[in-house]
Formats: sequence, structure tokens, C-alpha cells
Amino acid sequence: MEEPVYFDHAATTPVDERVIDAMLPYFRTSYGNPSSIHSWGQQAEHALESSRQLVADVLKARAEEIVFTSCGTESDNLALRGTALAQKRTRGAKYILISPVEHPAVSQTAKQLAREHGFVVEYLPVDNFGRVHPSEVEATICAETALVSVIYANNEIGTINPITEIAEICHRKGVPFHTDAVQAAAHLPINVEADKVDLLSIGAHKFYGPKGVGALYVRRGTTLDAVQTGGKQEAGLRAGTQNIPYIVGLARALQLARMECEPRSARMILLRDRLIANVLELVPRAHLTGHPTQRLPNHASFVFEGVDGNHLLMLLDMAGFACSSGSACKVGSPQPSEVLLAVGVAKSWALGSLRVSLGKDTTLEQVERLVEHLPKLVEQARGHKHG
Ligand SMILES: *Cc1c(COP(=O)(O)O)cnc(C)c1O
Repeated sequence: MEEPVYFDHAATTPVDERVIDAMLPYFRTSYGNPSSIHSWGQQAEHALESSRQLVADVLKARAEEIVFTSCGTESDNLALRGTALAQKRTRGAKYILISPVEHPAVSQTAKQLAREHGFVVEYLPVDNFGRVHPSEVEATICAETALVSVIYANNEIGTINPITEIAEICHRKGVPFHTDAVQAAAHLPINVEADKVDLLSIGAHKFYGPKGVGALYVRRGTTLDAVQTGGKQEAGLRAGTQNIPYIVGLARALQLARMECEPRSARMILLRDRLIANVLELVPRAHLTGHPTQRLPNHASFVFEGVDGNHLLMLLDMAGFACSSGSACKVGSPQPSEVLLAVGVAKSWALGSLRVSLGKDTTLEQVERLVEHLPKLVEQARGHKHG
């Protein structure tokens, strides 16, 4: 039997050996608390602040604009909740403007703010590729908008949004703009200055860093209410002793992602486009989801009519391929993905979704092997009646 292949890098990635090497000293010897006065504390503080500077350099931000968090989800939560509550407190703003294709870390936070804090969530329309058009933001934004949040690159369908144009409109209207760049940061040369965003979330485990650490970029002058209270860490925005080894790992992984961005992307785009072309050619009743070109370099996503997507994933797993349906929480009763419904996919197709996300070390041979197996597995899944 051949080695199984991991095709789920949009869910998480392995930790790069170079990242592990960077982290180890902070478990073993430099284990101080960065808030302590003594030399152990100073060492930890130094590691923390050099990591902050490194992340800032990569994103083209200033060190004091980087807040370390425990994950991409927490960054999204801090951005939305922190901004919405501050905007409500300072100027009575009550609308939260998001797209219908956000990650749950954004959409569920917005819904809770509506339920518990009196906000109104408004949804920007998206086209069939899942893109938000800047003109829709222009048409919907108003003086009472507390914040706008639009995903940079979609985790389910790979589509990249015109973030700079959207940010420009928000800027002009004086409304804070947040983008969830948790997928994008792994592949795109993000530049918060050029992009003009006010808040931007990243999470290390999507770019070969450890799980359980993230960062939020907060543009100078953006007011946030603290979500987690306690000590004065992270400029008072995120209390709690910082996880130094993980923060060092995040910074190193982000640095590597940026340094190797072009060769990684160039390789993966070739493999991705070959995979997409072959699947559409060889599998009957198959569609690509998301944009054909404005998409993440490693991301291929499909729907197959009349297929139980979870069953297909099981068949793929047995054949040695780890893939995803694209959205989480699909165990149990099959519900079509809200993202797929939002981009106009019919329910009978949406249940048969498949996401194949390549990694920096994925080979052509692995892609060819998947292409060889997939058509018969889809046919097998089509024969399978649910329940
Ligand atoms: C993975 C992901 C998240 C959540 O990040 P965690 O670090 O796993 O909490 C948020 N948004 C997007 C787009 C993601 O892909």
C-alpha cells in the first residue's frame, strides 16, 4: 500500500522543522515570564519583542500594532467584539457589516453581538465566486456602521477578495475595517499599509507554525475594548502570560512563509490548476467552487451532484487521501454549507463538496494519484444512499 497523502493544508499544516528548532530553547532554558524583572524574564521579554518586530516587519506594520493571541479565532473575536463594543460606547454605532462567506469565528461572533449587545448584522451580497464587490460596501455602509469585516481569502472555496478597494471605502467613511487573513497569510504577501486595513487576523498553524497561537494587527488609533481582562500584557488588550515558545514559532513560520512565498506559490499553482482541470474533465457532473484564478494557490474545491460529501471523504480516506468537505462541523446530519448556498450552489450539489488543499511539499505524483482514484470514488459515493 502506498503512503497516505495529506491534502488538507487549509485545515492545518505540519510544523516546519525550522520552526520547532526556533521554539525549543524557550521550552527548555529561556522559560521565564516576560513580565518578570530578572534575567529569565528579560530573555523572554526580548524573545517576545523581537517576535513582535519580526511579525510587524513581514506585515509592514509597526511592532506596537501587533497583539499576540491564542489562535486565529481569538484574533477574529478580539477584532469584532473589541471594535464593535468600543464603537457602540464612543459613538452609538450599531451595524456590523460582514459577508455571508465568513469563517464562523467572525459570523458567530457577529451573531452573538447582535443577540447580546443589540447590534444589527448586515450581510454584503457576494457573487457566484464568493467575492464581495466594493460597490456593495459603498452602498451599505453608513454613519452608524460599527465595523466592516470581509474575509481576505476564503477557507472553503479559496476565493480572494478585493480587500484594498473595500478598505479604502471604509477608510473614507471613517469605519474600522477588519479582515480575516488566516488563510491568506499562508500564501499572499500581505501588506497592511498597502491594503489599508485597520485590523487583520492571522493564525500560525495554517502556515507551518504551531496550533494555539495567533496575532491581530491593530492599526494605530483604532480603539478596541479588551475582551480578556487581567494583567497589562499586550497593551492591555489581551491579558494573560504570553506563550513565548509559540509566539517565537509563529514569527519564524510567518517569516519563512514570506521568504518562500513565491517558489511555494508557483509550484502549488501549477499543481492546483492541473488538479482542477483533470477533475473537471474526468468526473461527470462536477463543478469548481470559488473563483477560477482569484483563489489561494494551494486550494481546489469542487461540488459533485448527488454525492454525500462525508461518504466521499470516508472513501478517500480509505484509499489513502486526507481531504475535507471545506466546512467544519459536518458530522451527523448532513447540512449543506452556508458558504456554498450563499454563492448560489443548489442543495443537491452543495452536499457533495470536496476541498483539496495542497502543501508546500505536495508532489505532482501525489496529485496524479488522487486524480487517478477520484472518478471511481465519486461514482461509488453516488451509489451510496444516505441513511
Ligand atoms: C482556520 C481559520 C480560522 C480559525 O483559526 P484557528 O487558529 O484555528 O482558531 C479563522 N478563519 C479562517 C479563514 C480560517 O481558515
